[in-house]
Amino acid sequence: MKDLFIGLLDWIYKKKCYFCKSSKESVKMCSKCFDELEFLPVKINRHVNNTEIYCAGVYDKNLQKMIRGLKYHRQKDLAYYQAKFMWQYWQKLDFLEDDFQIVPVPIFPKRQKQRKYNHMELVAIEFAKLSGYEVNFSLIKRIKDTKPQYKLNKVQRMMNLSNAFEVYPQNIIQNKKILIIDDICTTGSTFEEMVKAFNNVGICDITCFATTTPWEG
Ligand SMILES: [Zn+2]
Repeated sequence: MKDLFIGLLDWIYKKKCYFCKSSKESVKMCSKCFDELEFLPVKINRHVNNTEIYCAGVYDKNLQKMIRGLKYHRQKDLAYYQAKFMWQYWQKLDFLEDDFQIVPVPIFPKRQKQRKYNHMELVAIEFAKLSGYEVNFSLIKRIKDTKPQYKLNKVQRMMNLSNAFEVYPQNIIQNKKILIIDDICTTGSTFEEMVKAFNNVGICDITCFATTTPWEG
C-alpha cells in the first residue's frame, strides 16, 4: 500500500519535459529535446561599436519556446538549459584562455518587481556555474523605463534605449573582461547602448553574447 502511495506521488510530481511532455527522465527538458537544439556556425554574428556579438542559435522552434517559457511563463528551471546551450556554443569559440565577469542585460527596477525576477540574471548564474566565470549584477543599471522593443524599428529602438543605462565603474571586477549576455539579439540596439555606456566611462574590453538571433547574420 505504501509503495503504491509513493508511486502515486512520484507519478503526480514527476516532471514532464516542457517541450515534448515526456516524463521518462523526470526533467524540465529531456536530453532528446536538448540535443535537437541547433547551433549557429561558430563565428562572429556581427559588430557594434567595434565590439563582437556572438549568437548561439536561431530564435525559432524549441529555442523560442525555451526563451518565452523562462521570460513570460515563470519556467525558471529553463534558465539552466538556456545557459547550457550557450556554454556548449561558447566552448567552441576561442576564449578558453580568457576570464570574464558576466553582465546580464539589466531590467528597470519597477519592471523587475512586476516580473519578480530578471530572467537573464538566472541564466547568468547558471552560465557562471558552468564556465567558472563570475557574475556582476552591480556594474550597470537600467535607469530608464524603456518600452518593449519588439514593436519598434531600428531608429525607434535606438531612441527608446538612448541613455537607458548607467555604469558604476567602481563595481568592476579587476582583470576580468566583460561578457554581456542577452536572450535575443534582433537589431543589436540593446548591446549597442550598453557598449556605448561602458565606452563612455573608458571600459572597452567587452564581448556580447546572445542565446539567439532571428537571423543567421
Ligand atoms: Zn523532451
